[in-house]
Amino acid sequence: MGLGVEGGGTRGSSRGLLEDFAAGAGNWCSIATGPQSSGVRILGEHFGEMESQLTGSTFAIVNQKGGVGKTTTAVNLSAALASLGHRVLLIDLDPQGNATSGVGIQRASLRMSIYDVLIGGDPMFHVIQPTGVDRLDIAPSDVRLAGAEVELVPAIARESKLRNAVRSVREMYDALFVDCPPSLGLLTINALTAATGCLIPMQCEYYALEGLSSLLTTIELIRRHLNPDLVVSGVLLTMVDPRTKLSDQVAVEVRRHFGDQVYESVIPRSVRLAEAPSYGQPILGYAPDSKGAVAYLSVAREVATRIGLAPRRVESSLVEVTGAVAAATSDRRGDDQYE
Ligand code: ATP
Ligand code: MG
Repeated sequence: MGLGVEGGGTRGSSRGLLEDFAAGAGNWCSIATGPQSSGVRILGEHFGEMESQLTGSTFAIVNQKGGVGKTTTAVNLSAALASLGHRVLLIDLDPQGNATSGVGIQRASLRMSIYDVLIGGDPMFHVIQPTGVDRLDIAPSDVRLAGAEVELVPAIARESKLRNAVRSVREMYDALFVDCPPSLGLLTINALTAATGCLIPMQCEYYALEGLSSLLTTIELIRRHLNPDLVVSGVLLTMVDPRTKLSDQVAVEVRRHFGDQVYESVIPRSVRLAEAPSYGQPILGYAPDSKGAVAYLSVAREVATRIGLAPRRVESSLVEVTGAVAAATSDRRGDDQYE
């Protein structure tokens, strides 16, 4: 079956900023290669610094396709990992700010956001705030971030703003998740440059793999030029509907492409998952007994194992409740109907 798997080249408007640069359309390549250029010194120092910086686990949740479950994954995976006892920072790098509102933060009430870090040079700890979930903090987004793509263009080391900013807080957390916007622009490039790995949510639908080659090319360019440690640390199948053959076929195709990089756990299509953001809660708070909650908890366990986080004892009984309810309801649909 044809799943819309993209061939070698890039398509239409999905061509990324770095690809433009690599093709010589930007000035970045000439900075990187011109030996007399002051840019070489800047970039050289920058590379020198990089070698020793990547210690924590920072995941860019990335896919330039819109609506594939990036934010849902960022919010719920962060919350699930926190509920397992780990300290987590969620960074909302999308001007839409859905991750920010998804953890119950009123964007209108924000005085500072990740915009102030990237553009204003404020330290990260000025904008980080706690959420309603124990051990989960957020660096929120605000609408000004929409202008950041343009404002960053003339900035020195513009691809590394986030990387340099998180350096000061990385040790405070077991894992950091960056929710990326649906594009391969400078914000996403900042996320990939700051990350130790990227997590790619893929919606189980016909065009799941379309645009994938642009994304992988961008990841490879960042790895080669800006962040040698960047790896694809996981592919997550989202909005899986076990009633349809298509979901199965897409899952097979994605596993054929990515092999072990695909998480065993998959995220089902679930009304509860779609409802939770309107209550400003991760699924574990909104519907801890739903299939979506169980699925994100399961992915969180896989992520923790892959990055070597030792299991923690948590006082909160939420995880146990979810596990118990999941076991009790495994044979029936309950009220968490698939759409
Ligand atoms: P964007 O590219 O616009 O940032 P995204 O990739 O972050 O989108 P989400 O916002 O997470 O995608 O999800 C898109 C829509 O699908 C949202 O309305 C969300 O509530 C819904 N959704 C996400 N995951 C599921 C799921 N497993 N089951 C049902 N609905 C889901
Ligand atoms: Mg989103």
